Amino acid sequence: MTEILYMKDNDSNYIKEFEARVVKTKDNYVVLDKTAFYAIGGGQPSDTGLLRWNGGESKVIEVTKKGIIKHHLEGGIPPDGTEVKGILDWDKRYGHMRMHTAQHIVSGVVFDEFGARTVGNQLYHDKARVDLHPIKLDEEDLTKIEKMANDIISQELEVSIYTETRAILLSSVDVERSNLDLIPEHIENLRVVNVKDFDICPCAGTHVRNTKELGKVNIIKKDNKGKERVRITYVLE
Ligand SMILES: [Zn+2]
Repeated sequence: MTEILYMKDNDSNYIKEFEARVVKTKDNYVVLDKTAFYAIGGGQPSDTGLLRWNGGESKVIEVTKKGIIKHHLEGGIPPDGTEVKGILDWDKRYGHMRMHTAQHIVSGVVFDEFGARTVGNQLYHDKARVDLHPIKLDEEDLTKIEKMANDIISQELEVSIYTETRAILLSSVDVERSNLDLIPEHIENLRVVNVKDFDICPCAGTHVRNTKELGKVNIIKKDNKGKERVRITYVLE
């Protein structure tokens, strides 16, 4: 029902404003024919921003995706058929993109070095946390993870986004490292995020074009979350 403008490639992740038409309205939300707003999911928060139309403006306070993509508004609701302009809170969204790409790198490093999987993650615009299992980490290990992640980032690797069939992906990635085994079987075509020569995994999130946009990973916190489950929190400097 809604065309998602940031799905098809990497450049589309940088769409900050777009034109769309309202195709459905209800008490406090609208559905658009297309959108560049990210709907909450996969550990990445919803985008926020503005919808503007001839004679009106509302805040987009949250975007959700349960069957249909709903833009929850604060302010007036534009009537069905209205042409609107969507404007993203770009600083926040760009923060999510940087944190998300960094997460793929941190998760890849941890898998390669410790054999642990990423079993949970939550991104914010200024920090992110990753839950790892099975693993035990001391201070030295955290320094090692930082160093390995920063070595990869400093190579200024290109990040690309494209669609791949499950069959091709299965033949080219480790199903546990990429969490491909968690994607429901019936999904045949997968959106893939590829950090050049380091990490390929299915993901519907938004990402930067090149690791040089990330800065440096700094792990600021480690929490033990149960048997061999560790949560690390990082920022980007
Ligand atoms: Zn992801």
